[in-house]
Amino acid sequence: MSDKKRIIVAGGGAAGLCAAVCAARSGALVTVIEKNNVLGKKLSMTGNGRCNLTNLKIDGSFYNASSKSRMDKWLGQFGPIDTMDFFRSLGIITMTEDGYVYPVSEQAISVVNAFENELKRLGVEIVYNSQLKSIEHIDGVDGYEYIVKASGTEYRCHKVIIATGSLSGAKTTMSTGDGYYICKKLGMKVKDTYPALVGFKTSEDDIMPDAGVRCRGEISFYLGEELLTSEKGEIQLLSTGISGIPVMQASRDIIKLVSEKKPVYALLDLFADYDDKSFDRLKEEMLKLRDNRSISEFLSGFGNSHINDMILKRMKLSHTMKTSNISDSMLSCILDNYRKIKFNIADSNGYLQSQVTTGGISIGDVNDDFSYVGDPGIYVIGELLDVDGRCGGYNLQFAWMSGFIAGNFAAGKPEELR
Ligand SMILES: Cc1cc2nc3c(=O)[nH]c(=O)nc-3n(C[C@H](O)[C@H](O)[C@H](O)COP(=O)(O)OP(=O)(O)OC[C@H]3O[C@@H](n4cnc5c(N)ncnc54)[C@H](O)[C@@H]3O)c2cc1C
Repeated sequence: MSDKKRIIVAGGGAAGLCAAVCAARSGALVTVIEKNNVLGKKLSMTGNGRCNLTNLKIDGSFYNASSKSRMDKWLGQFGPIDTMDFFRSLGIITMTEDGYVYPVSEQAISVVNAFENELKRLGVEIVYNSQLKSIEHIDGVDGYEYIVKASGTEYRCHKVIIATGSLSGAKTTMSTGDGYYICKKLGMKVKDTYPALVGFKTSEDDIMPDAGVRCRGEISFYLGEELLTSEKGEIQLLSTGISGIPVMQASRDIIKLVSEKKPVYALLDLFADYDDKSFDRLKEEMLKLRDNRSISEFLSGFGNSHINDMILKRMKLSHTMKTSNISDSMLSCILDNYRKIKFNIADSNGYLQSQVTTGGISIGDVNDDFSYVGDPGIYVIGELLDVDGRCGGYNLQFAWMSGFIAGNFAAGKPEELR
């Protein structure tokens, strides 16, 4: 038997691919078992096909509260600059846009191809259509520590890295959350999971625009009087719900309440950059335009036509009403509505349309090198862990970081780290 460490990496997604490259570069004999018939299916869809690899504006506060302090420590070991260096070593040059880092090719598939080529070069075995089923500790029998069972085959190895991902992503990504069940059987604590970075369905009673609209504004979510969270940016109003980056960012803070069917609602302010005085001045200017025009015509100079229609319907006002017949205070009230459009949240759009899963394997169950505290030959990395970040490259940064650290430690080369 070779004296090289034999490592099985379960899951050929972002975290598993990074771990496999690092472990093989550190001299281990690595096999990747991947349930799909290709590597990095979800990775190839990231960043709208551009792959937002990481973000230069980063610290623990961009991640969920329970992982914040550990993240600061891990980012000190492998931060965004290390990610960019790592990708350069794979032949991928990066570019930044306001801190957001992408491959210059602007093609996520080029990232997947670079991993595939490097794994081939390093002699890593890749087994496709192979689903991890279980891991058993065999305490050094035949010099090995674990039997890994996957789709009718058994592998003996010294270390196992579990990188099977979460429940989020389209059906083709095979994100069925297998890892939660496998890790639970190994004794790990699995925190309740919810879809995150996701849009929401609004209540059937809410009048929505007839066609999808993108608008800039601030969306604030409330439970009763309590402000839960607030985000600014480009919001999407659809005929059945709300989405867009600000809604997705906010989703991480409200998803549990929404899942519990608590009456969460959102208020959209389409003039968030105006303070009360400047909005009053804007209204005064609008009121001066008041003449024989219909309210619909009048509002066309103020808001998006689909939003104007929605507001009039919500206020039960006829489009043909002449503005000359509407009082100043009523017109002012109509315009004020653009600052507080209410959406009653009925449900999330679910795991299939979410970018990440919040919850998962408690990070209290892993050591700083991502080995399981109850059996340090087993490593858990990537989104399977209870770590989720904001939109903007933070989730892939965690996948690379945990893959890099676990891959090097599992192969016995922790000196690769600072
Ligand atoms: C549409 C979309 C866009 C996104 N865009 C971005 C972005 O631009 N930037 C960003 O930072 N994050 C983005 N994310 C989030 C990011 O893709 C994930 O956080 C990241 O891929 C998680 O990496 P992972 O390796 O843990 O899981 P995955 O990438 O999901 O990989 C898990 C792998 O394990 C395999 N697998 C599952 N079960 C088994 C099993 N039992 N046996 C063997 N293999 C198994 C799966 O087939 C998969 O290949 C996006 C997510 C989505 C859905």
